[in-house]
Formats: sequence, C-alpha cells, structure tokens
Amino acid sequence: MQVSVDRDRCCSSGMCVMNAPEVFDQDDRDSLVRLRQIALLPEQFDDVRLAADLCPGRAITVTEDQPAQTGA
Ligand code: SF4
Repeated sequence: MQVSVDRDRCCSSGMCVMNAPEVFDQDDRDSLVRLRQIALLPEQFDDVRLAADLCPGRAITVTEDQPAQTGA
C-alpha cells in the first residue's frame, strides 16, 4: 500500500496528523500536508485509510497493492 497527497487540495485541517502522525506532517511555513513516508508498514494501513476517509479536502490518495497475478 502506498499513499500520496495533493497539497493543492489540502486545507491544513491537521486531521491526518492526528490519525497517523508517523506518516503525515504539516509544513512549518504554510501548514499544508507533508508526507514523512510513502511506502507504509502493514501496521500503519488502518490509520492511513482512516486519515484518507476523514480528510476534509479529499487530498489523500491510498493505493492498495494489487494481488499477484497467477498464470492459468
Ligand atoms: S487531513 Fe487533509 S486537508 Fe487536513 S491537513 Fe491532512 S491532507 Fe490536509
């Protein structure tokens, strides 16, 4: 699973930092979201999904890993 943010959509609410402070941060200059990491650990998945769901600017995109294809 990976996460990305769109700073143009961020409204600096800080919700993501409250839900997953090890993944999200806010820029000291403009308070817009910054990522601390892109590749996530499995134990962070639920917090990051919640942060994306609760983001008022819809600025957080979560990309779930695709299951491996098996040959048939
Ligand atoms: S929750 Fe969304 S709008 Fe609020 S700081 Fe984080 S990315 Fe920005």
